[in-house]
Amino acid sequence: MVLHQPRIVVIGAGILGSAITYNLAIRGADVLLLDEGPKPASGVTGRAFGWINVINGTPGDTSYALWREAIAEYQHLKAALPEAVALARAGSLLWRATSQQTEQLADLHHRAGEDVELLKGSVVAEWEPRLRRAPEYAVFSRNDLALDPAQLAGTFVTTAVAAGASVRFDGKVAAIETTNGRVAGIRVSDDTLKADVVVVAAGSGINVLAGGLGIDTSVATSPALLLRYACRVPVINHILRGPRLEVRQASDNTLLVAKSFVADGAENGPHVIGERTLEVMRDELNLPDEVMLTSAEVGDRPIFADGLPRLGFLPQVDGLYVAAGHPGIILAPLIGRLTAEEILDGRRTALIPCPR
Ligand SMILES: Cc1cc2nc3c(=O)[nH]c(=O)nc-3n(C[C@H](O)[C@H](O)[C@H](O)COP(=O)(O)OP(=O)(O)OC[C@H]3O[C@@H](n4cnc5c(N)ncnc54)[C@H](O)[C@@H]3O)c2cc1C
Repeated sequence: MVLHQPRIVVIGAGILGSAITYNLAIRGADVLLLDEGPKPASGVTGRAFGWINVINGTPGDTSYALWREAIAEYQHLKAALPEAVALARAGSLLWRATSQQTEQLADLHHRAGEDVELLKGSVVAEWEPRLRRAPEYAVFSRNDLALDPAQLAGTFVTTAVAAGASVRFDGKVAAIETTNGRVAGIRVSDDTLKADVVVVAAGSGINVLAGGLGIDTSVATSPALLLRYACRVPVINHILRGPRLEVRQASDNTLLVAKSFVADGAENGPHVIGERTLEVMRDELNLPDEVMLTSAEVGDRPIFADGLPRLGFLPQVDGLYVAAGHPGIILAPLIGRLTAEEILDGRRTALIPCPR
């Protein structure tokens, strides 16, 4: 007897949809990935900073334990798909406004079992010689990774295709079709594609798609700004996060800065902030003259009020699965595996709450 293999459609080739498609495809599932953009990471994923860490979390919070699991999953990914993290850089240096606050940060995470070290300013100055004023102390978070989220999404998609997945770009899903309370397919332009399971990994687009079925998923969006600066030479060796600046350098030497963003008139528009931030960066770091702003892009981070992501089948429609939440780059490899386990094996995780 030939068992029916479910046709799974994943909506969204951001970091979550790409990771999910990869995990489904390598397990032999019949999966189609769709995105309205021209390539993977056309949404907020293409504007993410790419910091894989727990040091920005709070020990004791539910999200801290989750981030830890997610970072452990990166180790599995490294073994299974080395090219996905081949260009990642390890380690970050953080310091607060006062030495006492920096020591407290180190102590907090050290007591939670994290591999962090309190470095003296002389060591920081040696490791980061372009810093104009090394802090008295900095926390070194050894296992943090910095990677290019768009490249990671692209590797997931390429590997999924090699494993048999189908991919369609420039295809906006207009609606999810249902029959008798269960998923029947999706509508793209004039076409209806049949599906047994639809995974909605559409980031800030989830509300529109679920809303079309009368479902309120309660995903909110929180804007943040990614600034890119062209630079020809290596200037920093780690992610640096001080009171005035959060910066990392990519493998092509581009300098990246992430900032929270509030739409607040032209004088506080993305490019103006980008130029002002360059002044701050020049004050903090001895930068070559030619460093210049090349892009200032705002991305809408999909978030839930409790700060946790959501993962699972929606109770309202059989076969409709949602994967959403922040911080998606940290969580993607874990969410990808957990989604495949739930859809293909019926194994439900206790780590991430279900959507309602
Ligand atoms: C400045 C900045 C810095 C950040 N830094 C970090 C960080 O350091 N670490 C971290 O973990 N996270 C970070 N984030 C958050 C991270 O970017 C997001 O959590 C993550 O990218 C969300 O991924 P996603 O796949 O859910 O959404 P998206 O990347 O938005 O993917 C959703 C996709 O769905 C597609 N789509 C939507 N609607 C439809 C439709 N109807 N039909 C077809 N396709 C559709 C979109 O085109 C899009 O490609 C940062 C975000 C910003 C803005």
